[in-house]
Amino acid sequence: MHELSVALRIVEALDQELVGEEEGLVVTAVSIQIGTLTGIVPEALQFCWDMATENGLLQGSKLDIQIVEATGYCAECNLERPLTNLQSMRCPICQSPITQISGGNDLEILTVTVESPDDA
Ligand SMILES: [Zn+2]
Repeated sequence: MHELSVALRIVEALDQELVGEEEGLVVTAVSIQIGTLTGIVPEALQFCWDMATENGLLQGSKLDIQIVEATGYCAECNLERPLTNLQSMRCPICQSPITQISGGNDLEILTVTVESPDDA
């Protein structure tokens, strides 16, 4: 299950980041951005999130996923183009093969919303 390992990797990264923070800190929401080229299925990742956050600081947190469309650089047009067909990887305008991917191939953690127990 690819998405579960992705979810666990996010949890691990956040755990490390939150080490040494205030005791009793609770993460309420995590916002991430995933490119369409990562092959990650947002629904599946959402589903795995609860499992990955069963214990620890992220327990009960919400996962907010934003999708980033893939883009590539077309040498023929000398422009960045959206990659509408991920199978063929061609410029949607001139149909030249895209040789350089410029976006949509990574996962980024955007924001982490935390709540300290005193706020409640
Ligand atoms: Zn083109």
